[in-house]
Amino acid sequence: MSQIKRILVTGGAGFLGSHMCERLVNDGHDVVCLDNFFTSQKSNVAHLLDHQNFELVRHDVTHPLWLEVDEIYNMACPAAPGHYQYNPIKTMKTSVMGAINVLGMAKRCNAKVLQASTSEVYGDPDVHPQPESYRGNVNPIGLRACYDEGKRAAETLFFDYMRQNGVNIRVVRIFNTYGPRMHPFDGRVVSNFIRQAIAGEDITVFGDGSQTRSFCYRDDLVEAIIRMMNGPDEFVGPVNIGNPNEFTIRELAEQVIELTGTKSRIIEKPLPADDPKQRQPDITLAKEKLGWEPQIQLREGLQRTIEWFQSVDFSNFRAPTPNY
Ligand code: NAD
Ligand code: UDP
Repeated sequence: MSQIKRILVTGGAGFLGSHMCERLVNDGHDVVCLDNFFTSQKSNVAHLLDHQNFELVRHDVTHPLWLEVDEIYNMACPAAPGHYQYNPIKTMKTSVMGAINVLGMAKRCNAKVLQASTSEVYGDPDVHPQPESYRGNVNPIGLRACYDEGKRAAETLFFDYMRQNGVNIRVVRIFNTYGPRMHPFDGRVVSNFIRQAIAGEDITVFGDGSQTRSFCYRDDLVEAIIRMMNGPDEFVGPVNIGNPNEFTIRELAEQVIELTGTKSRIIEKPLPADDPKQRQPDITLAKEKLGWEPQIQLREGLQRTIEWFQSVDFSNFRAPTPNY
């Protein structure tokens, strides 16, 4: 029997989605990439357009989908704080209505469906590192809530569609992931620091830079997601996917300065509201169930990402919102 599957990737033109599409196309699957291009552009998938097993659809996941597929990776959602806070009501709709639409489609065509959830479901965590059993510390009325609560509600929908309708689900909680093809103007810390360093601009550390994040390189992330989708039906998640090596934001700035050899200086800017003070995944479950752990550490991942940023012309990128 053929191993070729018909696979939908929502948000497939984005940073992570485009790498998922690339991997699935290279594995020989019949891939539909669906995107409304809010935070991405066609150039991310232009190299896939002449593959016979790749198709690009402009569509917004808040509207119903009608396709026939075997698997769905639901990755459509703005992920950078400046973008998801630009139109917070739309962000919530994208998470919630997007989940309902892909789950309804999965139910109709008996497809397996994976949700790209996030470490933000833990909010500003008071348990450290964060295991999947931790229920989180999210401010439900804060500026980040449209994203955090939207993703939490999407997880609820995934588990209710599984229990009520027998939909075959997977849920991964992604921790800060970076790499080539991040939007240079998405405002996230890795892309901001590298773009600023290359352009010789000041490096903007928010607050005193003592807050921490744990950064996962995109190749490690893609591998984990593929393993999760193809793992046994008994293990649906949620599972943390991330690199447990934790750095302060100031340490990240210093590494970027060293690796780019820039003359840029570090300056401090106000810390945004509800900015989590610490974040580190407990990946015991991913190790045990998926036999997965990250292979690429920060220095090497940053080098590869810097090379990509140096190879592109920033003027070819449209800033998605004024908030970068
Ligand atoms: P991204 O912004 O590059 O990609 C998101 C994609 O979704 C973009 O192509 C965007 O145009 C598209 N999109 C947004 N709203 C849409 C809508 N209503 N309809 C159709 N398409 C829509 O971000 P990313 O980092 O690639 O994130 C991909 C997914 O992974 C997101 O769901 C995000 O929440 C999740 N995630 C990412 C990280 C990370 O560190 N990169 C961490 C946690 C979770
Ligand atoms: N950050 C920063 N300077 C920037 C962008 C972000 O110091 O130019 C900080 C931000 O305040 C946060 C961390 O870097 O503490 C990670 O921010 P990002 O937006 O990448 O992701 P998230 O906060 O969602 O983890």
